[in-house]
Amino acid sequence: MSVLVVGTTALDSIKTPKSENPRLLGGSASHAVVAASFFAPTKLVGVVGGDFPSRYITLYKKHGVDLTGLQKVKDGQTFHWSGEYEVNMNNRRTLNTVLGVVDGWSPKLPGSHETTPYVLLANISPAVQHIVLDQLSKPKFVIADTMDLWMNIALADLLRLLKRVDCLVLNDGEARQLVEEDNVVNALPKIHQLGPRYVIIKKGEHGSILSGPKGVFIAPAYPLKKVVDPTGAGDSFVGGLIGYLAAQKSGSIETHLRRAIVHGSVVASFCCEGFGLARTTKTTKAEIAARVRELEKLVKF
Ligand code: AMP
Repeated sequence: MSVLVVGTTALDSIKTPKSENPRLLGGSASHAVVAASFFAPTKLVGVVGGDFPSRYITLYKKHGVDLTGLQKVKDGQTFHWSGEYEVNMNNRRTLNTVLGVVDGWSPKLPGSHETTPYVLLANISPAVQHIVLDQLSKPKFVIADTMDLWMNIALADLLRLLKRVDCLVLNDGEARQLVEEDNVVNALPKIHQLGPRYVIIKKGEHGSILSGPKGVFIAPAYPLKKVVDPTGAGDSFVGGLIGYLAAQKSGSIETHLRRAIVHGSVVASFCCEGFGLARTTKTTKAEIAARVRELEKLVKF
């Protein structure tokens, strides 16, 4: 079954202690849609400006991404994010965000997208996430990603969104902020009370925690020896996860969710090994399967 991803389709300028990489293909939807494409047919809903390089369109196409929902505003500027990492590659600060064509964007889905069963509302304003959900007819499983910015400037929209989704994915700091709870384990039931049946808390290199009707699952992150650029790892994680779910031919979501998380972690690990999408796009299904097997061995006891 297919996956629809809405989010930012961006140009990212990424600075690390070792190098500067301007105007790479980035954005929450770009990372997520490429990650999902390893497992299932994908549809991208996004907006770019006239400055969006055609080689990035070619890259989406290489992954078989359906681009009928990608809007191009010829005289507009593509969303541009720049960020800088510290030496440990964990701490990052945003240097600048130019919303460009994302400012005030109201996506209109092609008719062919309305019945997509698996939906990922990747990180973008909750207002846009609502507009997309409003145009969908009874999706089977909806995951929302978010960030602290929306808790700060659009909390009411976000809280309304949480009542409409099956699963919320957020990092540990965001989980603490959302329910004003220092302990992540105690934050979980409070987040469920806000709406989502499933909650996944990302803890970066320390893996993630799934909480759902059948209890809690602790998932590892793949232990990488070298991180080149973690930008988009969270988006790759959730993209891989929903792509894996959509690819399952039978059985309930519940039965596949744990393995889906592990597949998401593995795709995220490849993302961290190159700038932007450079490593992810070179990844093969065989490499993903091999790392999943390695992770399985690492956590068995
Ligand atoms: P991650 O590293 O998973 O947190 O995601 C980084 C990606 O998020 C980058 O490719 C950025 O283009 C994108 N991004 C940065 N700020 C925002 C924002 N305010 N809304 C949506 N996407 C963003």
